[in-house]
Amino acid sequence: PLYLKALEIQGFKSFPDKTVLSFDEDITAIVGPNGSGKSNISDAIRWVMGEQSTKALRGGKMEDVIFGGTQRRKQLGYAEVSLILDNSGHVFDLEESEVMVTRRYYRSGESEYYINRRSVRLKDVNELFMDTGLGREGYSIIGQGKIDEILSVKSADRREVFEEAAGISRFRHRKEESERK
Ligand code: ATP
Ligand code: MG
Repeated sequence: PLYLKALEIQGFKSFPDKTVLSFDEDITAIVGPNGSGKSNISDAIRWVMGEQSTKALRGGKMEDVIFGGTQRRKQLGYAEVSLILDNSGHVFDLEESEVMVTRRYYRSGESEYYINRRSVRLKDVNELFMDTGLGREGYSIIGQGKIDEILSVKSADRREVFEEAAGISRFRHRKEESERK
């Protein structure tokens, strides 16, 4: 089983203080009034998995993910999100039975990525999630409009969803990468 164990958010959007959300294998629902930060939590999950599209993150520029301050509180200099996933079934190509992926972004524009506290490149994060259904091209996050997209897009785009499910995306990526060289 592949499941999220916890999410740690600090300085991301409306979460200036370190906030830890623990999940179990059952269903988790996040409820709260309008504007309380529910969607910011799913944005944090997308973001830590490597999302680069500010549109997908509902912002104008990447800096918008950093806590921007309120009347009572100063803005922060960086945002950090860690996602802890179960790896007891070794779905991820790592020895550890838990995988922690961390992304940090500074106002200066600097980005940092870590896998189990080891500094890595964005490419490594993308490859970690590839073919697991998670990650940027995964289908584990079904946002508004995604269902329509799957039903209506070109057959080539629809095929990508099935390639990810079949666990063969990495072969297409490698082929595309070698063709670019
Ligand atoms: P709804 O029920 O309307 O969908 P929601 O719970 O999903 O609401 P979010 O969209 O997650 O709410 O949160 C919106 C809030 O997050 C707004 O109050 C907005 O000001 C705040 N917010 C977004 N980005 C930042 C930021 N960079 N710094 C501080 N606050 C932010
Ligand atoms: Mg919302």
